Amino acid sequence: MTAFWCELAWLGGAGAEAGVLIECDGERIATVRTAVAAAPAGAQRLNGLVLPGLANAHSHAFQRALRGRTHGGEGTFWTWREQMYALADGLDEAAVEALARATFAEMALAGITLVGEFDYLHHSEAVIRAAQDAGIRLTLIDACYLHGGLPRFRDASVEAWAERVGRRSAPPGVRLGAAIHSIRAVDPESARVVAAVAAEHGWPLHAHVSEQPAENQDCQQRYGDSPTAVLARAGVLEALFTAVHATHLLEHDRALLESSGAFCCMCPTTERDLADGIGTPPGRLALGSDSNAVIDLFEEARAVELNERLLTGVRGKHTVAELATAATANGYASLGWPEGGRIEPGALADLVTVSLDGPRLAGTRPAEALDAAVFAATREDVSSVIVGGRPLNLDPERVAAQLREAIPQ
Ligand SMILES: [Zn+2]
Repeated sequence: MTAFWCELAWLGGAGAEAGVLIECDGERIATVRTAVAAAPAGAQRLNGLVLPGLANAHSHAFQRALRGRTHGGEGTFWTWREQMYALADGLDEAAVEALARATFAEMALAGITLVGEFDYLHHSEAVIRAAQDAGIRLTLIDACYLHGGLPRFRDASVEAWAERVGRRSAPPGVRLGAAIHSIRAVDPESARVVAAVAAEHGWPLHAHVSEQPAENQDCQQRYGDSPTAVLARAGVLEALFTAVHATHLLEHDRALLESSGAFCCMCPTTERDLADGIGTPPGRLALGSDSNAVIDLFEEARAVELNERLLTGVRGKHTVAELATAATANGYASLGWPEGGRIEPGALADLVTVSLDGPRLAGTRPAEALDAAVFAATREDVSSVIVGGRPLNLDPERVAAQLREAIPQ
């Protein structure tokens, strides 16, 4: 039996516990004991603050190639989208796989043990191989895309999408999910079919929702209501649903998402880069790196709260524990892994250690370690990553070489 002794570990409460012994049975946590003064013989010692593995609930791995290339200068979300389309149009399967492999490896360095890849390039098998190679868990979220965008994004019909996803099987470490790209790309009747397929398989269902005001206006004109309300009428909120972005919600959208128990996946580093606006999410909060312009879930977590402070002039809408839950248990659950993202018996033994020894966090008092991690840590403070009870070999130089190789010049 593998055992890890944590100097400090966050078990879901308001702060960290000291001297936590985690024993694993295979890839699951078997027992968790607190106040164990010293590491027993045979236990691996984890110095610093141990968190459950981080879940990145919304990613488009290929967009990592745009980092540094689209942020300067003028424009809007819609001009950025043209740059993204130009990149997407030039990528074949091998290029998608190389980019996904390198990007997932970068995520592993950042403490991400589960990623939800929202795939509309339709090289799903390549994405699956990439996650296996990087050693992290994957929910492959196959997006139905019927109208607009590039020809390569589009399915011939919702039936063709259903046929494709129905044929797929998931290897160990991988689960499947469904997506409605957006109400721009999928009409309500087709959305209803996607929701039914997701429900039939027990898959999580994701959709981009109200990222931009123009999307709301277009939906209002076409269908006479907001994207959330139109999706709700199509039965989408009855699934294990995650609204991605949910930036420009109306009051009745907020009520619909809250009462249905949906997740809202916020992607603040992307939303601010694309001038999307500031979302104030209802329902259960999850987090995503989306465009991968930045891969750092600590930054995403604190940005949700800090953006709200700027917007409202009030501090503390979200507690530190809520933000940490968004980055862990909620992300896992929104991706169809409800047994992950927590440190408790029976949970997946996915763990991330945040070092408190570096200049950024040295001097942190144990009682405030979770606060320090959420409000000040970065991915650079991640000192070990364990997936299914097995430590990953973190090698930043190798990952940098992979990225250099994968990013088109
Ligand atoms: Zn997205």
